[in-house]
Amino acid sequence: MKNEDNKADCDCKYKVETICQISDKSIADQWGALSFPIYQSATFAHRGLGESTGFDYTRMQNPTRQQLEYVMTKLEHGTDTMAFSSGMAAIATVMELFKPGDHFVIDADLYGGSVRLFNEISKKNGLTFTTANFSVDELDPLIEENTKAVYLETPTNPMMNVSDIEKIAKKAHENGLILIVDNTFLSPYYQTPIDLGADIVIHSGTKFLGGHHDTIGGFVVVKDKELDERLRFIYKTTGACLGPFDSWLLLRGIRTLAIRMDRASENAMKLAEHLQKKKNVTRVIYPGLPEHPGHEIMKKQARGFGAMLTFEVDSKERVESILKNVDLIYFAESLGGTETLITYPITQTHADVPRDLLDKNGINDRVLRLSVGIEAIDDLIAEFDRLLD
Ligand SMILES: *Cc1c(COP(=O)(O)O)cnc(C)c1O
Repeated sequence: MKNEDNKADCDCKYKVETICQISDKSIADQWGALSFPIYQSATFAHRGLGESTGFDYTRMQNPTRQQLEYVMTKLEHGTDTMAFSSGMAAIATVMELFKPGDHFVIDADLYGGSVRLFNEISKKNGLTFTTANFSVDELDPLIEENTKAVYLETPTNPMMNVSDIEKIAKKAHENGLILIVDNTFLSPYYQTPIDLGADIVIHSGTKFLGGHHDTIGGFVVVKDKELDERLRFIYKTTGACLGPFDSWLLLRGIRTLAIRMDRASENAMKLAEHLQKKKNVTRVIYPGLPEHPGHEIMKKQARGFGAMLTFEVDSKERVESILKNVDLIYFAESLGGTETLITYPITQTHADVPRDLLDKNGINDRVLRLSVGIEAIDDLIAEFDRLLD
């Protein structure tokens, strides 16, 4: 899959690798600084009554954050983006669009923090949820009279289930529902859900967009003006905005998104093929493998398979030995950085996910998740040979 396939009807004339380099010229630095300045200011002076530079107070707008939001809007082919202090803040703010009694259909295999938010906070606020496996379930029978939205990730975390965004968007819209897609795993470099019908795209900017495990941030990108107005109002009112310095770090991370994603995904493919040959590995789940059930859908709706891969080993003891003996790679939560991380979902990212949901998704105590980095593939292969042989 080549990025020439990126034919989205974006008003931006550039290809995705180039969009990573653009800036909002309307707020260009007056001295011509190429690295956009960090406007570390809480407030902005007015020149007179009723006169604003366009920036009043950083919770509302900030030039550094606006540069970042500009690039994200173009990358995701939306109409506007809000940058948040974390991915969870982004999701929590989107949930403020809804009121008690509203019902959601959500994917059963979501980021653990999202499951915790829905179960512990949204439910308390009167929202109700039905879980589905969108890679196999039809949406229609799950829709109730009060259903307002569909929420999914594809590929899912950590089981890498792939769902057909276009098909689900069509069904959602026929029923007057909005479709929310958390696009963290692929980033806009590989997948642009708005082109496929999504109304809201969410990101943890902490992951591939930031790309260096050095900052926390989140995004909400919206397809249309009406949703944008409602969300901007909630954004400025509840205030989970991204600070100027973190905005700058994210802007810098995005500059290299394309080359990082290409290298990391290439490594993930090679590592997946290598792990398949190991006798102690009982399952390798990577959508780039032709036998992955979502492989064809991914080829249709995405421009790459990404850097996330999940595998299962033959015993819990093997898990313990791997996690104790990692050397080049890190045993750590999170994903999307330049270094390879190994995560144990059952005690880390998915520790708060109810048991029955873990079972339903096949997340057992032998499942490990990798966020493959940009190291030399030979070194990664040597590391896994040492850990597994
Ligand atoms: C990490 C993550 C989040 C939460 O983002 P934070 O920046 O950690 O708050 C949400 N969704 C997915 C898929 C994630 O990986």
